[in-house]
Amino acid sequence: MAMISDWDIGIKAQSVLEKQVNMLLPPLFPLNRSISGSGLRKTLNTLKKITDFDIIEIPSGTKCFDWTIPEEWNVKEAYIEDLKGEKIIDFKKNNLHLVNYSTAQDNIYTFDQLKKHLHTLPNMPDAIPYRTSYYQKSWGFCFAYDDLKKFKKTQKYHVKIDASFRNGSITMGEKKICGKSKKTFLITTYACHPSMANDNLSGLILWILLLKTLSSRKTHYSYKFIIGPETIGAIAFLSKNKKLLKDVIGGFVLATLGGSGKFGYKQTYLGDHLIDSVIKKSFKDLNVDFITYPFDLNGSDERQYSSPFFRIPMASVTKDKYYEYPAYHTSKDDLSFVKSSHIISSLKIYLKIIENLENSKIYISTQPKCEPMLSKRGLYPKIGGSFNPKGIKGNTIYGYDVKEINTIRALLFWSDGESSLEQISQKTGVPITRLFEATKKLENINLLKEVK
Ligand code: ZN
Repeated sequence: MAMISDWDIGIKAQSVLEKQVNMLLPPLFPLNRSISGSGLRKTLNTLKKITDFDIIEIPSGTKCFDWTIPEEWNVKEAYIEDLKGEKIIDFKKNNLHLVNYSTAQDNIYTFDQLKKHLHTLPNMPDAIPYRTSYYQKSWGFCFAYDDLKKFKKTQKYHVKIDASFRNGSITMGEKKICGKSKKTFLITTYACHPSMANDNLSGLILWILLLKTLSSRKTHYSYKFIIGPETIGAIAFLSKNKKLLKDVIGGFVLATLGGSGKFGYKQTYLGDHLIDSVIKKSFKDLNVDFITYPFDLNGSDERQYSSPFFRIPMASVTKDKYYEYPAYHTSKDDLSFVKSSHIISSLKIYLKIIENLENSKIYISTQPKCEPMLSKRGLYPKIGGSFNPKGIKGNTIYGYDVKEINTIRALLFWSDGESSLEQISQKTGVPITRLFEATKKLENINLLKEVK
């Protein structure tokens, strides 16, 4: 009989959670999110109603390493109309129509002048693309390629963008769940995309559900939850939390987890960290098929967290990963693209990951300076030269069990206080049950001790 873990969500709780997701999606979807401004602030305040966390405002102009917090951007209205006052493109209908961080405009342009400010997707003619211009003062409109025919090349157009830039702040959310250990995992997401459901509403909804679930548990590890604008938010967090970071072991970037496509997981920059091993085990435990995406420099905030100074291994579980689905960064990534049941399936994967992290067995060698001398402890043949991993016939060598020798050596080499038994098993191919048995033997003769 399969063990029922206290991390499993019961069917009743699942339907409550699905309802909660369905209540969150429609009001959050149309907010004009950006890396700053009232849409971002309202999004975080809406999430705060599910469970509490701290809201932090980081003022414009604050230096964060090589970056500076930009001015806060807010929009009242934005449209292009013909000279008869007929609106052709209107931000009120879809905020993706306006290039995010566009500067104010109230001018008449010929179509030729206007052209370079217009963005369409000829390959997806009925979709509005998502475009931003955060760090270069510029403006533009995005719309369906099909709507380009509404413009006449010989006519002039009135462009109105009622947008303000002020000395404000970027808004972030944080919460620490303190476990028994100071060792901490980061659970991060971003909240800066307007009117797109998988990227990134699914991530921020999963973030709040995970925070709510973890807040009511007693955990071994500590977990630091972070939400804010992508890139600049992660950079701001890292620049302000140097003290906390010494206890951080790794983390997760929650992103694109609500589609109907296959589950995926983007590896940490190391590829074989504790987190990688736990993610693989969790998919296997739940019998869920998944695609492995090797670490690459495109992606999300892992680029900041894993940068040379910090080197925090960060992974992402995805369901319809960013870049991989055609609707990505377009108006097609709408509320019909995600389902609450998919978001809950992703939540279950993350809960299994946390359960496996919490239960992972980690040992440390008490003789980490070079190999301990095994022969004097009766664990290795005293006759040298006989051990050839490729040429051994039979299961024993001078009366010693070859499998046991290999198991002991694998354990003593990899037990550095950070690698779990599961990870050692994945690295060496030695079954975990055999590793576990050998740990008992090595603990008895004081060569190994458990670190948790
Ligand atoms: Zn994105």
